[in-house]
Amino acid sequence: MSLLDIHVFGSPILRQETELVTEFTPALRRLVDDMFDTMEAAKGVGLAAPQVGRNERLCVVDADDVRLVVINPEIVHKEGGLVRGEEGCLSIPEIYADVDRHTRITVRAQDIDGKWYEIEHAANLLGRCLQHEIDHLHGKLFTDRLSMLKKRSAMRDWDYEKAKYPKNLRVLPVGDLPPEKDASASDT
Ligand code: ZN
Repeated sequence: MSLLDIHVFGSPILRQETELVTEFTPALRRLVDDMFDTMEAAKGVGLAAPQVGRNERLCVVDADDVRLVVINPEIVHKEGGLVRGEEGCLSIPEIYADVDRHTRITVRAQDIDGKWYEIEHAANLLGRCLQHEIDHLHGKLFTDRLSMLKKRSAMRDWDYEKAKYPKNLRVLPVGDLPPEKDASASDT
């Protein structure tokens, strides 16, 4: 298994638009495997390619007992209005805030073989996680969705945290085995 370094808030790649994946190669499969390993080692429930310094439009998710490779995703349907819930992000460690998301969404995406599929009526942690990851694929972070006041408070807290990450990189300890499933983990 390979762990990838995670880019944290301040790294320019987190703000870039990703590019559509058009070739489903063995190299892409390795990237996805490494992203799952990295996400698990960091105790996250989702991880998007820009968070590991890549520009492919893809993310991996493991939430509500659903494990997905999500390539070129599009939200095709939104239902039930907005719901507020706490979010964190592997790229903004230790910062948490309430974010409004659609209650249920349907996502159309491709799997690792390029086959199109739909995740229908995704709600709860899975629905929230997918919305958070798809935001990442368009250069958007959860802090962008906070009110001015809450954003300012989150950024003040981040000012103390960011010193831990020289060059905006979060290097996971080598030798960390993927931990046991942690029901409380919701960093994405
Ligand atoms: Zn995130």
